[in-house]
Amino acid sequence: MPMTSDLSSQKPLLEVVNLRKYFPIREGFFSRVSEHVQAVDDVSFSIPPGKTLGLVGESGCGKSTIGRTVLKLMDPTSGKIFLSGRDITDLNQSQMRPLRTEMQLIFQDPFSSLNPRMTAGAIVKEPLSLHKLSSGNQSQERVLEVFERVGLRADQIGDFPHQFSGGQRQRIGIARALILDPTLVVGDEPVSALDVSIQAQIINLLMSLQDDLGIAFLFISHDLAVVKHISHQVAVMYLGKIVEVGNRNAIFNTPQHPYTKALLSAVPNPKPTFEKRKRMLLTGDVPSPINPPAGCRFHERCPYVMDRCKSEPPLLKEIAPEHSLACHLED
Ligand code: SF4
Repeated sequence: MPMTSDLSSQKPLLEVVNLRKYFPIREGFFSRVSEHVQAVDDVSFSIPPGKTLGLVGESGCGKSTIGRTVLKLMDPTSGKIFLSGRDITDLNQSQMRPLRTEMQLIFQDPFSSLNPRMTAGAIVKEPLSLHKLSSGNQSQERVLEVFERVGLRADQIGDFPHQFSGGQRQRIGIARALILDPTLVVGDEPVSALDVSIQAQIINLLMSLQDDLGIAFLFISHDLAVVKHISHQVAVMYLGKIVEVGNRNAIFNTPQHPYTKALLSAVPNPKPTFEKRKRMLLTGDVPSPINPPAGCRFHERCPYVMDRCKSEPPLLKEIAPEHSLACHLED
């Protein structure tokens, strides 16, 4: 039985089981596969309807690859992906087409993801046309409704992306994701490119959309402070693997994995006089995902490394209700 990170008794909207995504590296005249980039390796998790899973980790840990793989923008190497209980792992692009309305993506950089030659209204309406879902007045009404819902004005519908601020451009991106009424939205670093004050506005908008519309989010970020605000569950990734997953309180109040503790120790504490957190500096660089370390992938940087960590990969095991850990220290 695979170890999944379903932290809820609710039936999951999205379930990912033992997901792997390896990218081949080809060399030579015959383009033979010489090695693989092990971007995602044996990852399992689930998200209930209307909830948010925050996926955190340093750049290059595989979190964006997970986001794109669960949306079937790329095929997994192995493992299973279920949406509302339906196995979508092996569906081809045309079989996925009707399901695309249910799964949407919000990009990191709202400027480069918006066509500069299209008006904001046309950008937001485009998914309706692509899916042949409505036309004429109906589309226009729906665009206006979504504009209002994300905090854009009706008179901005004919403006072009360069006429909007960064935060407003991200609102256009959110409106475009929202217009098809999805049940799952993957946000790939959706606020990283924005100023801190604007980040808070966009996070609040996403949370209110979730409350009103029951959307589930897979929220991908390198920033634990942002993830803390929006997530019901948090999964911490290191070099292609989930090393700790739990509900928000478990991860932020009682983190167990040395890597989670190190990430948390770097987050500025708004209450320094009451809750002093000792800074834990990680030494060394993140190893290459082409040839990851044997055993625990974190062992070259872990201050608690033991002999067995160098040869035996720790499994993700439940250590408390709604809290799982992959670390030999637990034994
Ligand atoms: Fe550190 Fe060993 Fe735990 Fe890995 S398994 S995090 S190396 S103590």
